Amino acid sequence: MYQTVKGTYDLLEKDMARFNMLEDLFRHFLSLYGYAEIKTPVFEYTGVFQKENDTSDMVTKEMYTFSPNGKDSLTLRPEGTAGVIRSFVENKMYARPELPVKLGYIEEMFRHERPQKGRQRQFTQMGIECLGEKDPLIDAEVIALGYTYIRTLGLESVKVLINSLGDAESRLRYRERLTEYFAPHKEELCIDCQNRLEKNPLRILDCKIDRGSELVANAPKMELTEGSQKYFDDVKHYLDLLGIPYEIDDRLVRGLDYYTDTVFEVVSTNEASGSQATIFGGGRYDDLVKEMGGPQMSGIGFAIGVERLMILAEAEGIFEEYAPELDCYVINLNPEPDYAFAIAEELRNNSFTTEMDYYGRSLKAQFRSSERKNTRFVLIIGEDEVREDTVTIKDTLTKAQETLKKEELVERLDQLLEDYYE
Ligand SMILES: [Zn+2]
Repeated sequence: MYQTVKGTYDLLEKDMARFNMLEDLFRHFLSLYGYAEIKTPVFEYTGVFQKENDTSDMVTKEMYTFSPNGKDSLTLRPEGTAGVIRSFVENKMYARPELPVKLGYIEEMFRHERPQKGRQRQFTQMGIECLGEKDPLIDAEVIALGYTYIRTLGLESVKVLINSLGDAESRLRYRERLTEYFAPHKEELCIDCQNRLEKNPLRILDCKIDRGSELVANAPKMELTEGSQKYFDDVKHYLDLLGIPYEIDDRLVRGLDYYTDTVFEVVSTNEASGSQATIFGGGRYDDLVKEMGGPQMSGIGFAIGVERLMILAEAEGIFEEYAPELDCYVINLNPEPDYAFAIAEELRNNSFTTEMDYYGRSLKAQFRSSERKNTRFVLIIGEDEVREDTVTIKDTLTKAQETLKKEELVERLDQLLEDYYE
């Protein structure tokens, strides 16, 4: 007997339908905001994901890296941005006459971390990347897309947290000040942060272990250069203009090392999700395109973890109205299935979702099946119906029953649906 590998899971029917619902609405939002969907390979050369001096847990501890021929180092995609940018550069999208290039994805990701609720080793992310232009309008639009998507799904208790990590100069200055501040207290930091102190002290600010400490709470704040401050003020202005509620969180640095200027998270304040769970996050990156071999071009994006979104959506009860429904169930009471079987196929060819009995069960058993499947119209095919070339329809909502010629069936069902929804 085999079982799923730790950190992976089967997506069974009901959850699959819910997954699809989340994804379908996301695809709708992609098109509303002018994004085209792309799919990148599940594995890439390790260098696509692993940058020099990257201190993030994802890169240092969690990647599935393998070498099938003992020569190339390959890695299963742990996040979406790097592959999209690799594709942007490889396909020379940066040279297009129309910039920015707006790309969206819905893809499986792989990270070897300790599985917990809403966090699997194989998981799905829906994300966007807007590449090739840097403008506060774009930052605000990207946040608006994500926020409005979450609100349209029906999640109520959400808010946007934003921060600016500044431009290269702001960050360089800030790094120096943080290093100066933390260095005398190195021993008080966790092992990871002692390492981060050398490579990227900003990451200490959102360390899961040290985050709550007095030392981190009293750390100096970022001072933005004039240009970065103006940029951040403009982003906030456009968010105000769109009526998107946000809070500034100056400890928000995000888990990855490559962010510059705007970073943001949309968090749930629903109690079921813990005190304040991140629904999704993202930010701007000035140097990723260049690091991947392209020109110096900025980009911005975010990614939503679908597994976590499922839990939140369930907690807020937004799935109730999505119970699957069957249009028609064909009950056959004849020894031969031919007549009923042909009708079922005709209904499907006319866009009615349809099921039928395969086993010649009793009338009662077939009715029970139709109820379990939440059927709108039950079609009864008895001896009389076959002899007279008719069908008996039972409308399970109005309880009305009628017998009519087989060739009138499709038109009649259309009419019943239309009358009902008027
Ligand atoms: Zn730490």
